[in-house]
Amino acid sequence: MSDINLSDIRARDAADPLAPMRERFLLPRNTIYLDGNSLGALPATTPARLNDVVTEQWGQGLIGSWNTHDWASASRRVGARIAPLIGARPDCVVVADSTSVNIYKLLVAALKARPGRHVILSEPGNFPTDLYMADGAAWTVEGTEVRTATPDRIVDAIDKDVAVVLLTHVHYKTGYKHDMAAITRAAHAKGALILWDLSHSVGAVEVDLAGCDVDLAIGCGYKYLNGGPGAPAFLYVAARHHAALRSPLSGWFGHAAPFDFGDDYRPAPDIGRFLCGTPPILSLAALEEGVSIFAEVDMDRLWAKSRALCDTMIALMDERCARFGFELMTPRDPARRGSHVSYRHPDAYPICQALIAHGVIGDFRAPDALRLGFTPLYTRFKDVWMAVETIARIMADEEWRRPEHSVRRAVT
Ligand SMILES: *Cc1c(COP(=O)(O)O)cnc(C)c1O
Repeated sequence: MSDINLSDIRARDAADPLAPMRERFLLPRNTIYLDGNSLGALPATTPARLNDVVTEQWGQGLIGSWNTHDWASASRRVGARIAPLIGARPDCVVVADSTSVNIYKLLVAALKARPGRHVILSEPGNFPTDLYMADGAAWTVEGTEVRTATPDRIVDAIDKDVAVVLLTHVHYKTGYKHDMAAITRAAHAKGALILWDLSHSVGAVEVDLAGCDVDLAIGCGYKYLNGGPGAPAFLYVAARHHAALRSPLSGWFGHAAPFDFGDDYRPAPDIGRFLCGTPPILSLAALEEGVSIFAEVDMDRLWAKSRALCDTMIALMDERCARFGFELMTPRDPARRGSHVSYRHPDAYPICQALIAHGVIGDFRAPDALRLGFTPLYTRFKDVWMAVETIARIMADEEWRRPEHSVRRAVT
């Protein structure tokens, strides 16, 4: 197989039907941004939208905007816009709270819906907040135990004690993608519910919640959905569970009739029962701008570009960086991975810092992973080329050894 050269890369960008979508984002010049899976880029329409919501809707419309600008239904409206990205019915998704809080709400709901079962099953090394919230849910529902099993053992570990299986579809560090259909089937065969965390999937890889018969899902608004720092998260509950499952955070926005101001909690009959308090309207407006961009693109092309970007990254690293001690953590099989590629390297931290100093923004994930995320809406094949070129250069001239690259920052 012959090496990939720069004209191959240019040809890939020229043939990319999604290339024009990059103009929908305000990206800094001279930066190769491979961190859209930590914090997505700023959509070009978001500043004006926020300005309008602040100065007109809030400033002039004041409290009347709950009705006149439909603030009251924003959680459901934006949820319905996310639905097609995850293979969900629009009335089964709402935007609310943070991913962490939604994990808690749905875990407790699931535990209560499976009396006689006392186990939350997850995997070791899952994203920390998922395990921490499982711990909190277990503390809330007395007698609950959190168990973990590695991906190869997970199906065997689902037994008659398991109430709910909590897994992250695409692993935040390795990029490994679980077989959603098979694990969901296995959980159902043993009478357990399944809760998928889609934080590293939504907007970058194909997800078919309805097709896989998934019970519950949650995901993040500020990664591939480009909702902005701290954007609210979304949650999915299959329609068959709307009547039976209840959120432990029984706030008034989840009430059947919040503006009746009654003393007794009566959950809404539909997905609205998983809302809690007053929604963050400014953040919801920003998230809506990010999510709306997806309505313009062909999803199959989006998923295909994600695969092609990762394939290009892996091939170029194989060709040009093999001698520098990087160990690929991400599966080579596109069917088994998400939209980021990670390498284990003992010096991953200073290497990541040296890359940032040279305009290539990726992530370090403790203890030894260099993670590079590929956002099919705005990453170019040229960016992948430049990133590998920069990695090769800082490794060859040992630029990463400069002492300033080893200084640890608070957020990595
Ligand atoms: C990013 C991420 C989260 C984030 O949770 P927050 O409540 O937004 O801090 C949770 N789970 C996974 C798997 C993530 O990747």
